[in-house]
Amino acid sequence: MKKNTIKTFSGFSFLLMFVFSSCCNTQQKDNSSPMTAKNVVLMIGDGMSVPQICFAMEHAETTLAFEKFAYTGLVKTRSKNAKITDSAAAGTAIATGQKTNNGMIGMNSDSIPIPSILETLKDLGKNTGIVVSCAVTHATPAAFIAKNCSRNNKEEIAEDFASTDKLDVLIGGGRKYFLNRKDSVNLIEKMIQNGWKLYDSINQIEVDATKPLVLLSDRHPKTILEGRGDMLPDGVTTALSLLNKNENGFFLMVEGSQIDWAGHNNDTEYLKAEMEDFNKTIEIVLDFAQKNPETLLIVTADHETGGLTLVSDSTNTYNAIKYKFATTNHSALMTPIFAIGPGAEQFTGIMDNTDIYNKIYQAVQKKDEPK
Ligand SMILES: [Zn+2]
Repeated sequence: MKKNTIKTFSGFSFLLMFVFSSCCNTQQKDNSSPMTAKNVVLMIGDGMSVPQICFAMEHAETTLAFEKFAYTGLVKTRSKNAKITDSAAAGTAIATGQKTNNGMIGMNSDSIPIPSILETLKDLGKNTGIVVSCAVTHATPAAFIAKNCSRNNKEEIAEDFASTDKLDVLIGGGRKYFLNRKDSVNLIEKMIQNGWKLYDSINQIEVDATKPLVLLSDRHPKTILEGRGDMLPDGVTTALSLLNKNENGFFLMVEGSQIDWAGHNNDTEYLKAEMEDFNKTIEIVLDFAQKNPETLLIVTADHETGGLTLVSDSTNTYNAIKYKFATTNHSALMTPIFAIGPGAEQFTGIMDNTDIYNKIYQAVQKKDEPK
């Protein structure tokens, strides 16, 4: 292939091409990936599989962030006890590397608590953060911190957030589960005693803040259509700049939480808005990863929601797409995974959701300097 290229290009063009490819390929395409991932950002679109991404592409005016990744693969999602997973079992599988039963958080099907990748990387000296557009006690963020046999025990899950020493940044909703509890315990006070600082909004967080806690709503933050605004992209921008101050790097989990609820509601306007918000947030992290090349960025999903299909309308012209939902629940579809940065080459082919933990762990291990 190189010989043909030389024949058809002038010497100058070839030189330019060589310079371009040699400076840009080392990180993203080199299969030996000599760099260690210092920072890891794991972004989860809840309920977002290939149909939701195709849907977003149909509505986008520019290229979506998903097309800018060097490596892509597919993820099998079934849980320990069900062919179709819920967000608790899928979140736990991604977070801990072990399958569990639907409904269970941070523990295996024998109710044994398992450390999450967030906790493991904190033990390696990294800063850690969670930024989500749902209550922080909801299944996906809970799977990275809490250990509970039921996702419904939200007040117990909040207690796990309040007592953990593995987390440095927490942005989402769910204030009620910390403040207005059946046991009348004020978990926010407990967190402040443990070094957290509570902020009423993301833009109040100082540039040198440590352990910022933002719980923007009693339960879930608003939908985008109801005026949530840039909570997720702004939260991620703030989290990245605070976490990046640690010389050992960081782990950040981001969830586009409400893509799932748009699917449950079979609501295309809601889905469009939440996919736009998640895409915008991915763009921010892609930009950060470009400026900080020791960053492994992974974007994936826990499962598909709604059984969305993009089909031709009845005119058979193939020029009009109809969006049809086959269910108001989850489906068994595989989910896509996208990766860029050191260790990204591991995220290709078909993998299980439990493989993600080990692939991240491999990527952060110190590697010998390239010869
Ligand atoms: Zn769901």
